[in-house]
Amino acid sequence: MAAVALSSLEGRLPNVRGRLTKDAPLSGLTWFRTGGVADLLFRPSDEADLKSFLKGLSEAISLTVIGLGSNLLVRDGGIRGVVIKLGKPFGDIDTKGDQITAGAGASCVALAHRARVAGLAGLEFFRGIPGTVGGAVVMNAGAYGSETADVLISVRCLDRSGRDIRIPATEIDFGYRSTSLSPDLLIVGVVIRGTPAEPQTIAENMSQIVEAREESQPLRTRTGGSTFKNPDVGQAAGRKAWQLIEEAGCRGLTIGGAQVSEKHCNFLINTGAATSKDLESLGEEVRRRVKQATGVDLEWEIRRIGERKR
Ligand SMILES: Cc1cc2nc3c(=O)[nH]c(=O)nc-3n(C[C@H](O)[C@H](O)[C@H](O)COP(=O)(O)OP(=O)(O)OC[C@H]3O[C@@H](n4cnc5c(N)ncnc54)[C@H](O)[C@@H]3O)c2cc1C
Repeated sequence: MAAVALSSLEGRLPNVRGRLTKDAPLSGLTWFRTGGVADLLFRPSDEADLKSFLKGLSEAISLTVIGLGSNLLVRDGGIRGVVIKLGKPFGDIDTKGDQITAGAGASCVALAHRARVAGLAGLEFFRGIPGTVGGAVVMNAGAYGSETADVLISVRCLDRSGRDIRIPATEIDFGYRSTSLSPDLLIVGVVIRGTPAEPQTIAENMSQIVEAREESQPLRTRTGGSTFKNPDVGQAAGRKAWQLIEEAGCRGLTIGGAQVSEKHCNFLINTGAATSKDLESLGEEVRRRVKQATGVDLEWEIRRIGERKR
């Protein structure tokens, strides 16, 4: 979809009850804490507000949805068009029997806790994913042998004209950290299935996940989680991205304020003053060195969006 300049958005925007911010800085909305501004940031006040905004918005205007920005590198030149952030109004979580209905803006951590309280197992892995439920579906987020595809029953989306679309999980192709869902769909809610179990057992599984992550990942840093996908084809299949990065001697490598984490070398971190350009350049340098040392082409897991600064 063609990007348009802010000037051409003016006078063409629908009336909304939610918050519209022009030239909105996005750095505070991503885990890396870097990146430029959105021409326009929209935080809908509820689903009806979002629908009427979409109905009134020209399809020529490019649209980007963000969750908690835990898998995003927003480039320094920012994002043209409209960025939509689904916040608290999309954060409801309800349980009925072995099913959980959640808004796309609910955090995965909150979902995991609700499942524990309801005595529903199989969702413990969400405790370690610092994003929203909507982001988890799009990324087919997972950990410790489980992924979103394993537990998803259906997603509820809106298309660009604000029309409701319900898609059963059986109609979605899930890959490793990917789905076949069209990027033009906004996920607004999901239905997920758990397996009845003792809350105490679920709590113990969740504690183990928390401990394992504390030990192995730089959690309290400005990071985007795993930078590259683990290779699943060719000679490197079965090897972890971090092993290849280690072999290429990249642990601790820096460019500007960006660093390959010493603790987990598939994580890039913003040490304080990194730009998105520093982080992307460092990622590309890691890819180059890994290719040279091992012959493997690493594929970005982090989504890089927006424009480079001119
Ligand atoms: C410390 C750390 C640890 C992590 N550990 C893991 C892990 O163990 N396993 C794992 O899989 N990931 C992990 N991640 C990555 C990240 O948390 C997941 O990919 C998460 O699912 C992203 O969710 P989000 O809400 O932050 O999405 P964002 O990063 O905001 O967006 C990711 C993508 O989803 C799209 N999107 C988001 N919401 C919607 C929506 N409602 N409708 C349509 N599109 C949408 C965005 O446009 C973007 O393309 C980790 C990240 C960090 C920082």
